[in-house]
Amino acid sequence: MATKLAIKGGKKTVPDGLMMEWPPVDQTDRDMILGSLDRREYTYGTNYKALEAEFAEWLGIDVPTVFCNSGTAALHMAVVACGCGVGDEVIAPAYTWPSSVTCCLHHNVIPVFVDVDWATINIDVDLIEAAITPRTKAIMAVHLHGLPVNMEAVCAIAKKHNLKVIEDCCQAHGATFKGQKVGSFGDCAAFSCNHNKVMCSGEGGFFVAANQQLLGLGKTLWYFGENRPPVEDGDFHTYGMGWMYRSTELVASFARAQLAKLDGFIDTIAENALCLHDLLADCPHLIRPFVPADTVTNWYNYTVRFDMDALGHADDPAAFRNRIVEALRAEGVQTGVWQGWPVPKMTVFQAKNGYGQGCPWSCQTESKPDYAMENFPIAQKHSDCHTGMTFPLRPPNGTELAKCVAEAYHKVLSNPGQI
Ligand SMILES: *Cc1c(COP(=O)(O)O)cnc(C)c1O
Repeated sequence: MATKLAIKGGKKTVPDGLMMEWPPVDQTDRDMILGSLDRREYTYGTNYKALEAEFAEWLGIDVPTVFCNSGTAALHMAVVACGCGVGDEVIAPAYTWPSSVTCCLHHNVIPVFVDVDWATINIDVDLIEAAITPRTKAIMAVHLHGLPVNMEAVCAIAKKHNLKVIEDCCQAHGATFKGQKVGSFGDCAAFSCNHNKVMCSGEGGFFVAANQQLLGLGKTLWYFGENRPPVEDGDFHTYGMGWMYRSTELVASFARAQLAKLDGFIDTIAENALCLHDLLADCPHLIRPFVPADTVTNWYNYTVRFDMDALGHADDPAAFRNRIVEALRAEGVQTGVWQGWPVPKMTVFQAKNGYGQGCPWSCQTESKPDYAMENFPIAQKHSDCHTGMTFPLRPPNGTELAKCVAEAYHKVLSNPGQI
């Protein structure tokens, strides 16, 4: 007799209260934050400056990083540092978080989408060259779910066509390609430290530049269009379009305390993810994440796909996937559809309603990016059949929870008739 699924009134697989909250916070975090308060440092103080240097050291680069209030802000800084201006184009994957490309719209720059590769869910590097036009300025390489893009391929194409490379590392702290950390390949990179990411300061981000010149260009956005550190004396002067992307000393203090523990967190996540990965090897109808040779993922989001052909739901994949997710949640698994839309399908692109009056698309007439969805079949297919998991694999949780999660997957997918 088949086991009764929890959505059908059966027993829940993952006990309530087993999953612990991310991120682990201890006395080192409290001491760091209270230290700033006790020194009456609220803006760009001791911990802020130390954090910017320590993150560069952790990344293995010589240029200091810039801590800012979000990954989105850091991406915008990268677009500007790379010289992308009105009507220029940036090539980006059709499946990512919208910030990877709305950062272009902020500067009246036009995103040009390329479909993703089914196995890795990263940009299909074989499709990049065909998307290059005389207006292309940069390639946005998004290391999605913490899995590195093939940076050798991307950098070779960029070099051949004289393009800049921006790395969206918002999900990929610590991930490596051929032994080198992502964020150290491109001209610029952006990291996020929002609550979901593997490094959390509540909100926050890092802008990373390969040299001092790019750093200075990106930094003009950080502080009202100024490009000197705010502590330097002198009259304020706006050198270009400026935003206010600086964060606060207290957030930087939290980030600094978390950075000291980041490598340990990443190790634990890998241990939990590999435990789950092994236990799901023979789970029916399930397509596990793929990690190519030469790459080390940080397992930011353990994303699985369901084989809709085998399940007999090729005609209504998203609807059936949603029912599987519901069944998994009923079993106590914290899982969800991270991104159910290919980005070009979103209204801002279909309606081309960036700054209004057709901008940035009307800012040039030489090339017209095509956002027709038939160009992005893999992004659409992935959007319809995946679900992902972040917090259950994070410390302080260990493999005990991962084992329960695996059991729930087996239970649900072995009984598709009950879904
Ligand atoms: C989280 C994320 C961002 C944006 O980071 P915020 O800090 O939330 O602004 C950008 N790109 C990707 C791929 C992300 O996952």
